[in-house]
Order: sequence, then structure tokens, then C-alpha cells
Amino acid sequence: MAGFNLYNTLTKKTEEFKPNENGKVRMYTCGPTVYHFAHIGNLRSYIMEDVLEKYLRYMGYDVKRVMNITDVGHLTSDADSGEDKMLKGAKREHKTVMEIAEFYRKAFFDDCARLNIKTPDVIEPATNCIPGFIHMIEGLLSKGYAYEAGGNVYFDTSKLKEYYVLSSQNEEYLKTGVRDDVEEDLNKRNKTDFVLWFTKSKFDEQELKWESPWGTGYPGWHIECSYISIKHLGEYLDIHCGGVDNIFPHHTNEIAQSEAYLGHKWCNYWFHVQHLNDQTGKMSKSKGVFLTIPVLEEKGYNPLVYRMFCLQSHYRKPLLFSFDVLDNVKTTYEKLVNKVTALGTDGELEKNDIEEYKKHFNEALGNDLNTSQALTVLYDVLKSGLNDASKRFIVEDFDKVLSLGLLGGNAPAKEISKDLAGLAEKLIAERNEARKNKDFAKADAIRAELASKGIEIKDTREGTVWSLAR
Ligand code: AMP
Ligand code: ZN
Repeated sequence: MAGFNLYNTLTKKTEEFKPNENGKVRMYTCGPTVYHFAHIGNLRSYIMEDVLEKYLRYMGYDVKRVMNITDVGHLTSDADSGEDKMLKGAKREHKTVMEIAEFYRKAFFDDCARLNIKTPDVIEPATNCIPGFIHMIEGLLSKGYAYEAGGNVYFDTSKLKEYYVLSSQNEEYLKTGVRDDVEEDLNKRNKTDFVLWFTKSKFDEQELKWESPWGTGYPGWHIECSYISIKHLGEYLDIHCGGVDNIFPHHTNEIAQSEAYLGHKWCNYWFHVQHLNDQTGKMSKSKGVFLTIPVLEEKGYNPLVYRMFCLQSHYRKPLLFSFDVLDNVKTTYEKLVNKVTALGTDGELEKNDIEEYKKHFNEALGNDLNTSQALTVLYDVLKSGLNDASKRFIVEDFDKVLSLGLLGGNAPAKEISKDLAGLAEKLIAERNEARKNKDFAKADAIRAELASKGIEIKDTREGTVWSLAR
């Protein structure tokens, strides 16, 4: 197995990755909060985590990856204030929380499928695990790491030897960094304490509530990930992933609870993906306007062009999104696919050269997942004097990790031609006009016409989105 050097947020160093058990990797990923579509920033994190998982598998590790689905407990501020995001989504769409959860969970995995992101081995919605959260909170209370106040249960951060193990956050940051809509909670003994279980009257309108020893209520967001990870991956986790905004407070609090509960070190490697930014800063749902995969498709981009856009940058560098750059990547991607498609099958496999290129590919990814360097190795292969059979063999091999659908093995999204995209836009505009005039027969006829061209449409609050039928 080749050496794999990976930056670890916990030690703030690039170190050789060594799992607890030889040949096995236990990997946990914070899943989406399913109150809205995932934006392409969220998906940058999931694309790079997918590359990480696939590279571990490529090296021969037996990986078990678990992801939660946050369908309760995540408030609009990552600290414990504001409104529950799920409730906010339900109000926005006049639906129940569970309807919202179901719809956006499906939308998330549709996006993942279009981006060739592998489905995790275990997907666990938080609402499935309420008795488990309660059990873990009872454990923390009995060990003296938690207290009840004002009806809620809080984690007592002053009981830890060190709280900021992951980040260099300090009191000053807390005063400024998490300022957005943070109301001071007078029940907290220390400013950094956080809620494990909510019952406070403030959350009376919360739709989903469960009985607990502390009254009817619901769990805090952080306890979800600690419990779900331990439930499926045991007491010793190899690697935990998320976007950099998760470092504090979410992952810091996960470590606090898990280690207090288990009584020993929990997770060895912390992998964090930097943000995707737009001209106004970090892409975020709270800004109201954000880009999604269906929107990119609507504009005529194959989702795998966006995957390639992400792979061209290092995951630890902030990435600025622009359509100009995406257009360049689109051209590069199309050329790459055309070149690969044109490869024949002639020739004997040139084993020594193949090994040499694989070595370079491993050197690139083994160097803190340098995906842009890995792409360069792929171009080198295509430019080389190797015969077509050898080139094809290598492309297929590298695409197990890159997953750009180069040989069709990864269910590539179908190419959308500019003409088809133009036609779809035109017909959707006509259909909207017909609907406005209550001419539903015409609207239905247009939908049927689109379907006959292989175009599926979906009416959302954000307008009608279209995609190619799969
Ligand atoms: P959420 O659905 O808000 O819980 O976020 C899902 C994932 O996306 C988390 O791992 C976040 O850290 C990550 N994330 C949020 N915003 C961005 C962004 N602009 N760029 C990259 N990752 C992000
Ligand atoms: Zn989490």
C-alpha cells in the first residue's frame, strides 16, 4: 500500500495516514441539514470527501463510511440560538417537517448521483436515533459532564482539560465570530457550554418532540453526530470529515461529548474542506440566492463539469466560483471525454509504463490529495506514446477515484447540448405563460413535448427546473 500523507486539522500537520486497524478505515461524514437544496458549496465538500473515500479504497482499504441526515436540532446559528432550520423550511413551504426532510433528502442524493458521489455505506437520519441520544445524554449527566438548567440539558465545557482541541478559537472569537443572532443564554454556566437536549418554552412550536427524562423536547445538533458515529463505527474512529465551518463549534463539541462519554480519545484524523465562495463571500443558504446542481444543469452544464472544477483545486484552498472558469472547465472536460472516447483497444498492455504512471498518480493523491496534480498525470497519459489499450486501462483505473465518467463506467450524466438547453428554456417559458393564463391543457401539452425530448421538469418554489430523464 502506498504511503498517504494527509493534513490533519487535529495536529495541524500533514501526517502519514494510519488507521486503527490494519487495512480497515472507519470514516464519518456530517450529512446535510435537509431543509433546502444543497448548494454547490456544500457539494464541493461532498465531492472532495468522495475523492478521499475512493482513494482510500483505491489503495486497498476496506472503508466503512457513515453519514447522518440532520432532520432535527440544527438551529439557524450553529451555536444554540435562532430557529430550527427544519421548522424554518417547513414554514417556508407550508409543509410538515417530515415532508421537507423527505423531499430534500431525495434531492441531495439525486445531486450526489449526478456528481458520481458514492452513497455512504450507512445513512442514518437523526430522528431515527432519539432513544440513543437520550441514553448518551444520561451517560454524560451521570459522569458529571452535563447539567440541567431552565429545562434544558447542557454540556459543561469547564469539566474538560482542553476544549479547543481542534481550533485556535478563543474567548475573543466567541464574542465576535459567532455574533450573528446569538442571544445570551442565561442558563449556561460557561459561555462555551452547549445544549444536548432542548425543552425550553421558546421552542414550543417545534413540530417534532419526544418524551425524555427531562421533559418533552428534542436533541441538540452536535449530539447527533457523536451518537450516530459511535453507533455504527464503534469507539475508535479513524477519520471524520466536513467543511471548515464545521470545525467550530460543531466538531469541537462532537469531540468534547464523545471523549467525555467514552473516556478516551475518539477520532485520529480530521479532514476539512475549504469553502466555495462567490463574489460576495462564502456561498450560503442564508443569503437566499445560491447555485444548485439542477440550476447548473438548467444552464446546460453537465454536473461532472462541476466535479472537475472542484478537482482542479486543492481542497484546502478557498475556491472562487465563476461561470467564466466553469465555461473553461466545460471545454476542457468535453475535450477530455472526446479524447478518451476516441481511444481504441489496440495493443498489449505496456505493464511497466502503466506502473510508472500509477506511481505518479499515487504520488499526487498521496500528497494530501493533490487532485489537480492527479489530473495532470491523466493528461500526461493521454499525451504519451502508449498504445490505446494501455491508455484506456489507465484512464479506467484513475477514474475509480476521479469519477469523471470518462469511460461511462460511473454512470456519467448525459451531455446536454446547447440547442437542447435552449429549447428547454424556451418551452418552459411558454409553459409558465400558459399556467399564468390558466391554460392547463397547453401547459400539459408542453410538459409532454419536453418529455418526448427526454427532458424532465420539476416545479419548485425557486421556479421550474429541468434535467435530462435518467
Ligand atoms: P449543512 O447542510 O449546512 O449542514 O452543510 C453540509 C456540508 O457543507 C457541511 O460539511 C458544511 O461544512 C459544508 N459547507 C457549507 N457551506 C460550504 C461552502 N460554501 N463551501 C464548501 N462546503 C460548505
Ligand atoms: Zn456532524
